[in-house]
Amino acid sequence: MDLGLKGKVALVTASSRGIGLGIARVLAQEGVKVVISARREDELAKARETIVKESGAEVLAVRADLTVKDDVDKLVKEAMSTFGNIDILVFNAGPPKPGTFSQLSEDDWEYATRLLLLSAVWLTKRVVNNMVSRGWGRLIYVTSLTLRQPIPNLVLSNTVRLSLAGLVKSLAVEYGPYGITANGIMQGYIMTERINQLAQEEARARGVSVDEVIKAWSKEIPAGRYGRPEEIGYLVAFLASDKAAYINGSMILIDGGYVRCVF
Ligand code: NAD
Repeated sequence: MDLGLKGKVALVTASSRGIGLGIARVLAQEGVKVVISARREDELAKARETIVKESGAEVLAVRADLTVKDDVDKLVKEAMSTFGNIDILVFNAGPPKPGTFSQLSEDDWEYATRLLLLSAVWLTKRVVNNMVSRGWGRLIYVTSLTLRQPIPNLVLSNTVRLSLAGLVKSLAVEYGPYGITANGIMQGYIMTERINQLAQEEARARGVSVDEVIKAWSKEIPAGRYGRPEEIGYLVAFLASDKAAYINGSMILIDGGYVRCVF
């Protein structure tokens, strides 16, 4: 199936590694011009090199901290001045601080709100009018399975990310008439370097192999394994295409069958 994405421009945030990088790689392989961004220049440069090498795509890397409004401003301006437009916004964020309610401070809540909600609002504000003027756009928000099934030690994710489901529905209704769709992704357990590192630490502490740790962690996932970052990328690529023009305002679970609730 030709997704018809060749020549489109995508801005993918938090994309120097993990899920964000997986998304950027898949889009680049589909012929999309990609803007990647994260906080660390060295990681970004490495990510850019990887993407360019495997896809030959045009890739712009911009350092930006999503919790800093001026950085978000600069990111969108640089993307626009390099590529002219942004057709596809893929909002992904770094992981919020783990912790239970009693462990988290009020500052932690404020930071998580900037990281997981306000940055999404700032980015959307800066790209959506240009999409309206061209009558086409894709707004895609990467969240988490915690919207469906809270995880005890991730109270910030359980709570703050839920607001993105409201944002997605609101944007879908308001901007649907302009050829723009807004959707969210609720991914389950995805094997990134960060997760692999956690597995290595646990393996060392318990004196077992990394494979054994990952196997134990995967027991509750019907697919029997963690997902791969590029598997989130395939979903993003489809949602970004014209083939998905009728999917609007949806929150889509991609979790190997982990979450047990029906809706
Ligand atoms: P990761 O740690 O592998 O990558 C996070 C990316 O975000 C990196 O590129 C990092 O540089 C960037 N980043 C971090 N803080 C930032 C900031 N303030 N501004 C800009 N960039 C920033 O994480 P991941 O596993 O790929 O997860 C991505 C998101 O998905 C996270 O929010 C995570 O909580 C969520 N999530 C992950 C999983 C999983 O199993 N991996 C499951 C559900 C939800």
